[in-house]
Amino acid sequence: MTVNDISAKHSLALAQRQSDALLNRCSYKGRFAPSPTGPLHFGSLITAVASYCDAKAHHGQWIVRIEDTDIPRIYPNSEQHILQCLDAFEFESDVEIIYQKERLDIYEAVIQQLKQKNLVYACECTRKMLGSNHIYSGTCRDKHLDFEHQAIRIKVSDQNICFEDRLQGQHCSNLQHDLGDFVLKRRDGIINYQLAVVVDDFLQGMTHVVRGADLLDNTERQIWLGQCLGYPQLEYMHLPLAMNDQGQKLSKQNLAQALNIQNAPQLLQQAILALGQSAVDIDQPHKMLAQAIAQWDIQRIPKGTEIQGIFQ
Ligand code: GLU
Repeated sequence: MTVNDISAKHSLALAQRQSDALLNRCSYKGRFAPSPTGPLHFGSLITAVASYCDAKAHHGQWIVRIEDTDIPRIYPNSEQHILQCLDAFEFESDVEIIYQKERLDIYEAVIQQLKQKNLVYACECTRKMLGSNHIYSGTCRDKHLDFEHQAIRIKVSDQNICFEDRLQGQHCSNLQHDLGDFVLKRRDGIINYQLAVVVDDFLQGMTHVVRGADLLDNTERQIWLGQCLGYPQLEYMHLPLAMNDQGQKLSKQNLAQALNIQNAPQLLQQAILALGQSAVDIDQPHKMLAQAIAQWDIQRIPKGTEIQGIFQ
């Protein structure tokens, strides 16, 4: 894909957004975007339920996207487990599922666009050179290195970026002070999640993001990248995270249990309750989801970034 192709795709996506707004058509498009770096667990189910109910309660669309650009971290069979779970819990994506690893040429073309705008540069700093310093000081910004076989960083600026999260309230970051120029493409050629997520949310016409509060701190980066590319800003809702008995968030690293599809109705009920919603009648999952959508009330979602209770 060339820069011209991607520019055409961008214009089309923007025109589509404008005509949707004019016709008042589909003013809500949300998504569930798991990475196949391990099997889905109860925390993922909470995100799936909340993103689905919120989209459907707004008469919107809900779309599944598999975020599999980080090839070395893909866990065997986890993609299959994600698809089995979607099936067992009777979640249906309103458009065909997309896989980011099949869209690498799109992300490359967006990097070209950013190069033309002089917003990115090549960086030769290794992890070892950066040490424990989490804020990148811009060492390679003015070195004008060749892009070949180097990491690619986007320049950030010394300004506060703020957004109003639908659950967490106002959240701000000055990327220059808090993070520094950040990586869009790694030295090993892997496209970073930040780039892929922003490009696909735009090209797929997303309007709303509902995801775990562990990603709250990524949002200003994504807003900045979107601004550099001229994309409209999304609405965000970051859900509190289910904690295990050690007080850690459920995650693949903390060995959260894989969802057992044999218990789909019971697990679905637990996820609905963990989100503070009224119980539904135990039934086939799509009927339970229909009831959860009818009762959906974001005011009832627990406040803060953690859900108390012991989850596995
Ligand atoms: N792929 C990310 C994950 O599994 C979620 C991305 C997002 O919702 O923005 O953690």
